[in-house]
Amino acid sequence: MNAAAKLPFLKETMRIAGKEVTSDDVVEVRNPYNNELVGTVPSARPEHVREAFAKARSFKSKLTRYERQQILMRTAETLRDRKEEFARLISAESGLCWKDALYEASRAYDVWSFAAQLIVRDDGETFSCDISPNGKKRKIFTQRMPLMGVISAITPFNHPLNMVSHKLAPAIATNNRLVLKPTELTPLTALKLADVLYEAGLPPEMLSVVTGNPGTMGDAMITDPDADLITFTGSVRVGKHIAATAGYKRTVLELGGNDPLIVMEDADLDKAADLAVQGATKNSGQRCTAVKRILVVSSVADEFSALVLEKAKKLKCGDPMDPDVDIGTVIHEGAAKTFEQRVNEAVAAGARLLHGNDRKGALYPPTVVDHIPYDTELVREETFGPVIPIIRVPDDINEVIRISNSTAYGLSSGVCTNRFDYITRFINELDVGTVNIWEVPGYRIEMSPFGGIKDSGNGYKEGVWEAMKSFTNVRTFSMPWG
Ligand code: NAD
Repeated sequence: MNAAAKLPFLKETMRIAGKEVTSDDVVEVRNPYNNELVGTVPSARPEHVREAFAKARSFKSKLTRYERQQILMRTAETLRDRKEEFARLISAESGLCWKDALYEASRAYDVWSFAAQLIVRDDGETFSCDISPNGKKRKIFTQRMPLMGVISAITPFNHPLNMVSHKLAPAIATNNRLVLKPTELTPLTALKLADVLYEAGLPPEMLSVVTGNPGTMGDAMITDPDADLITFTGSVRVGKHIAATAGYKRTVLELGGNDPLIVMEDADLDKAADLAVQGATKNSGQRCTAVKRILVVSSVADEFSALVLEKAKKLKCGDPMDPDVDIGTVIHEGAAKTFEQRVNEAVAAGARLLHGNDRKGALYPPTVVDHIPYDTELVREETFGPVIPIIRVPDDINEVIRISNSTAYGLSSGVCTNRFDYITRFINELDVGTVNIWEVPGYRIEMSPFGGIKDSGNGYKEGVWEAMKSFTNVRTFSMPWG
C-alpha cells in the first residue's frame, strides 16, 4: 500500500473488553482536506463507559513480565510492518501530510519496543535498617504494583497513534487494565491499534476503547467509581476541568504549550532558522511542543528573519496524500480560521505579515509574521497551527528570560547559542519541563521524561519509563535480616 491507495469506508464499533459494541448514534469522521466521510464510530452513552470500567475492574491480569514483553514486542513489530497502512488512516482522519503520517506511524514502533525492553528493569529499592542507634537487623524492600482500579485514558487529535501508544504501552507493561477514550476527531487509528493488541495476545479485558462526544460521556470517564487514575493529554481548558471534577482520583495531565525558540546574538543563524521553520511547521504546527514563539535578539533579527522567510517559502502545502507535500491540513476549517483571524489581529496591532495566511478550507500554509507585539493573542495563546511568529526582544539575557517565562505555559523550549554562560542560565532559569540546546523544543526520545509545569502539566512526566512509574503503586515490605 502507498499514499495513493484508497481507503474503504470504516463503519466502526467500540471494543468493550474485546467485544464489538455499537450504539444508536454515531459520530462521523471526515477527512479535513476534502470533507469525505472516512468512517463513523459509535456515540457512547455513559452506560457504555460504566460497562467498560466494570468489566476491566473484574479482571485481574496474571501475565508474567515475559508474556507482557512478547505482547508489546509483537505490537511494535506489527506497527513497523504495517506502517503505511496506519499512515494512510492517520492522514485520512487528521489531514496530516503523508511525510508526517509516516513519521507518526514509525515513532509508534519506538514507544512499543521501548516498553517491551524496559519491562526487564526493576527499580525496587532495599534499605538496611541497622544504620542508626534506633535500628534493627531488618531490611525494607519496595516493589511496584499495578493500580487496584482501572486507568482512564483520554487522548487528543494531533498525534492519533502516539498519544494513545504513550498511555497504552506503559499501562500494559505494568499489568494494568485500561479504558481509552480517543478524541472524537481521530478515533479510527486508536481502534485499529486495539485490534493489533488483541491479535498480539492481549487479554481483551485489559483494554476497552469507547468512542463518542465528550459532552455525553466525558464526565463518565472522569468520575467512574472503578477509575483510579485519569491520564489525559489535551488542552489546558479540558485538563483543568478534569482536575476539578476528578476529586480524590489521581490525575496525570499533559496539557498545552507555548514554547519558545530563543535565538541569541552569537547563534549560527542559518541553523537557527532551520530549527525555527521545522519546529513551527512539522505536523502542521500541531504539536504541544511546536515552536510557538521565536524570541530573537534585535541585533541579529533582520538577518534571521530573512533566512526564515527564504526557508518557509520552500515548504509545500497542499494535498496531504501528495508525497512531496510538507504541510497537510490542520484538524478542521474552524481551527484554520482562528489562525487567520489571530494573524490579522496581530497585523492590525503592528506586526508584519511576510508570507502565507491565505487559507483554503482547512489548508493553512506556513505563515511568517515578524515584529509581533508581545501582547497579541497570536503569541499569548497557544496557536496550534503552522504560524512562524517572530518576536524581537532586547539584547539582554535577563529580558529574554523574563519574556520567555511570561506566559502561563511551561512545557519545553529550544535555545540557539554556543555561549556556556547563557546555556547554564537558560537551563536553570527557564520555567519549563525541558530545555533543548540547539534543538527544537519537541526533541525527545520516547523513553526520556517528558512533560511540563505551570499550565502545561501537573508535574507528572510521560515518556515510557515515567509513565510506568506513575501507573503503579509502590508496595513497601520488610523482613527480619540476620
Ligand atoms: P482537547 O482538550 O480539546 O481534547 C482532548 C481530549 O479530551 C479529547 O479526547 C476530547 O474528546 C476530550 N474531552 C473534551 N472535553 C472533555 C470533557 N469535558 N471530559 C472528558 N474529556 C473531554 O485537546 P485537542 O484539541 O484534542 O488537542 C490539542 C491540545 O493537546 C493542545 O493544547 C496541545 O498542546 C495538547 N497536547 C499536549 C501534549 C503534552 O504532552 N503536553 C501532547 C499533545 C497535545
